[in-house]
Amino acid sequence: MSIIFVFVDGVGLGEEEQKNPFFTTATPFFSSLLGRNKLTREAAGKDYEHATLLALDAGLALEGLPQSATGQTALFTGFNAAQIIGCHLNGFPNRQLRGILAEHGIFLQLKRRLLEGTFANAYRPDIFAALQDGLQGYYSCSTLITYYGGLTFRSLDDLRRGEAVYMDITNVVLKRLGFDLPLIAPQEAGLRLAGIARHFSFTLFEYFLTDIAGHNRNGAFAAETVATLDVFLGALAQNLGADDLLLLTSDHGNLEDLSTKTHTLNPVPALVVGPKRQRLVELLAGEGSITAVTPAILRYLTEKAACREGKKG
Ligand SMILES: [Zn+2]
Repeated sequence: MSIIFVFVDGVGLGEEEQKNPFFTTATPFFSSLLGRNKLTREAAGKDYEHATLLALDAGLALEGLPQSATGQTALFTGFNAAQIIGCHLNGFPNRQLRGILAEHGIFLQLKRRLLEGTFANAYRPDIFAALQDGLQGYYSCSTLITYYGGLTFRSLDDLRRGEAVYMDITNVVLKRLGFDLPLIAPQEAGLRLAGIARHFSFTLFEYFLTDIAGHNRNGAFAAETVATLDVFLGALAQNLGADDLLLLTSDHGNLEDLSTKTHTLNPVPALVVGPKRQRLVELLAGEGSITAVTPAILRYLTEKAACREGKKG
């Protein structure tokens, strides 16, 4: 009974238009889940046989385009980070956001509830030296919640053993950076993530190429990124346990609109897959914002753990 949270950077729910690679690319897995629809706004707000697709507001009740540091802090803590600091902050968290992540990051909150979480992404060797100094400098929200949650970072050795997945799913970026690792198929990566998730109440994986592809506005790269994600999620979903839930969501829109290289004001998807998803969907739908995600996950897992204890007693 666990949640696998696939965080895709920069993916909103766009219209069924040519500028939206989620509409123009063949995505057999998304289509199979969404009654032959693509992952678009038209498909949202509905319950399907194997999944529910919600649209979450990513605007954080503040004017302007949503950005990564504030959006991800909101997503991984439940706090409206943009309201707290008074702006949408791009790039990496500042000191104030780090404070929120250090105190309220989802991994720390799980630990306080005696639930075990893991970050499935593999890290390049330089992170391990930086850990010695308390990660001074600029790091992503996911890296910071992993650090403040006291979790073990997965390495490239873990990746070689099949016990981690890189943020590009296939190792293509790693290879380009000169690391000696084999390319892996998105199917294999999905299978690996399902294997990792078996040992934890909560598993986070971050796919980062979606935001890069959105900023690049390169149609072929965008289509490849969407297709890779679709195959990866399909393999992951097929290998989940009967009680497990897959949750896919994002920090802000971007890739779904290739007519602009900036982020968008579109809502983001909260796609929940699994036969026992109803309670999590209820908890996510209540607030309708990305700030609902972490509280919903924590509440869902806490309730399930309490039921298990009750049954034992
Ligand atoms: Zn971006």
